[in-house]
Amino acid sequence: MLNTKLWLKLVLVLLVTLLTLWQLSSSRQFQLFGTLVDKVDTEQKLVALTFDDGPTPQYTAGILQLLELYQVKATFFVTGAETQRYMTQAKQIVAAGHQLGNHSWFHNRMLLMSLDDISREIEGTDQQIREAGFQGDILFRPPYGKKLLMLPWYLASTNRTNIMWDIAPETFDQDSEDPQSMATEVLEQVEPGSIVLLHLMYKNREASRTALPIIIKGLKAKGYRMVTVSELLTTQ
Ligand SMILES: [Zn+2]
Repeated sequence: MLNTKLWLKLVLVLLVTLLTLWQLSSSRQFQLFGTLVDKVDTEQKLVALTFDDGPTPQYTAGILQLLELYQVKATFFVTGAETQRYMTQAKQIVAAGHQLGNHSWFHNRMLLMSLDDISREIEGTDQQIREAGFQGDILFRPPYGKKLLMLPWYLASTNRTNIMWDIAPETFDQDSEDPQSMATEVLEQVEPGSIVLLHLMYKNREASRTALPIIIKGLKAKGYRMVTVSELLTTQ
């Protein structure tokens, strides 16, 4: 029989291990296999705006109009399910010269998923992205930014790059968000090669949609040009 002290030690070791794995799964700078990018090493004043989730019929046209107005190119990390459902909007994004990236099919957490399920999520979404007409490299961004073992392994074995971010001005408490302070956060943190994460596609993201033109104008005023992630990657 194990004595109480030893049990306590074992529980402690287990807790520390779990905590370490959880932190590792959320890291924006490190994963166990393959290529992860959270910011591009460049001296040029370039920044990539990335928008996760969707597309949705409610907000895609408005976002595209805004990007057109300011002559800005962006990267949309879309889900396979929404791309299939809203193919018209996905095609509009591609036709406007923006980049589509893979954000999984169902947007479930992929931490404990089997390789088979990971493969279905990723390959199925890639097919939809191709159907929308996007021809460049398809980059990946994990739902909730979460990855640990199998997902990085699959991405590495299929030569896919995992794109994280170095600036995320949204907190997850969406109700208390102030567009102006979100924009200020981006403008204070931005550096050449930064990747900015925003969510614009759902109703509860009004603050982010309001912040977008303030962010774009502010970045331009600081001398930054906004490009797709793939374009940013070519400058490193
Ligand atoms: Zn997402």
